[in-house]
Amino acid sequence: MTDFAQRILPWFAAHGRKDLPWQQNPTSYRVWVSEIMLQQTQVTTVMPYYVRFMQRFPTVQALAAAPLDEVLQHWAGLGYYARARNLHRAAQQVMAQHAGQFPTTLAGMQALPGIGRSTAGAILSLAQGQSQPILDGNVKRVLARHHAVAGWPGQTAVLKTLWALAEQHTPATHTANYNQAMMDLGATVCTRSHPACAVCPVADTCIAHAQHNWQAYPGKKPRQVVPLRTVQLLIIRDPAGGILLEKRPPQGIWGGLWSLPELASGADPLAWCQQHLSVAASWQRDLPVRRHQFTHFHLDMLPREYALTQLPQQVQEADVQIWYYPQQQVLPGVAAPIARLFNELSIQEQAT
Ligand code: SF4
Repeated sequence: MTDFAQRILPWFAAHGRKDLPWQQNPTSYRVWVSEIMLQQTQVTTVMPYYVRFMQRFPTVQALAAAPLDEVLQHWAGLGYYARARNLHRAAQQVMAQHAGQFPTTLAGMQALPGIGRSTAGAILSLAQGQSQPILDGNVKRVLARHHAVAGWPGQTAVLKTLWALAEQHTPATHTANYNQAMMDLGATVCTRSHPACAVCPVADTCIAHAQHNWQAYPGKKPRQVVPLRTVQLLIIRDPAGGILLEKRPPQGIWGGLWSLPELASGADPLAWCQQHLSVAASWQRDLPVRRHQFTHFHLDMLPREYALTQLPQQVQEADVQIWYYPQQQVLPGVAAPIARLFNELSIQEQAT
């Protein structure tokens, strides 16, 4: 047993939590349900849900036989409902494929819906007495700080390092107490923003504590830098009140919808009017920039209004360019930000 585990176990005997509902009669079923409930939710919130859930679904058989709606109803308020759906499906698999008995191997356990390696390790250790490591959020925090593991645990290499440390420290015996202790230590001592290092059983070997920089561990998720594109949206009005619309190419953003002519931020709209409509134009006003967030980039759109000095000739390509007369026509299919812009324009016009 590592020196680390040797200090964790006595701490558990003195300070660990031993009265949680799922610690009483810790069968695979009862531990499994608690682990799934605890995945995104705090112990104090989970407790009453857990008790009610167990009253209604005391066994895996009862859960598998229940209608999904009823399972969801008992989950209502815990959030992340995929967990409840997976729980229900997994219960049915345990009944159909394992004759109502939970698997006894990591691989078998992980084959059930919603059970990852840490949850599998928790069930096998806490309920079946096996020596299996766990690595939930609390354990990650303790290990990352104690060993000063840099980087965000969502990255494969960082996660691998943390799993290796978890394996190294998990004792061959007393694993249930050790795993419960690690979860308790992370939840009650090595907390996210106020670790109580003064009462921590592993403080004297903790690197983050020695360096006074526990805040650095575990590393934060890198902020994704989303590129920003800026375009001009041209509101070109003809003397009869029409507004020029263009159809967007079928691929790309707002594919196939109608929109305002879009110009690169440095391009000259007056030259564009001359070139595309053979008519001179004059600038009227700029409207406030509006930002639209796409998954991979942000788009800043500057709507700019221009008036043509005379009616243009018929547009050349009626399938990709039309004049839209707000008083006489319904706005054709446009993207939501463009519809909002038209709405603003019409409100302004009604006000003037
Ligand atoms: S010494 Fe402090 S930072 Fe290190 S594991 Fe203990 S509580 Fe966490």
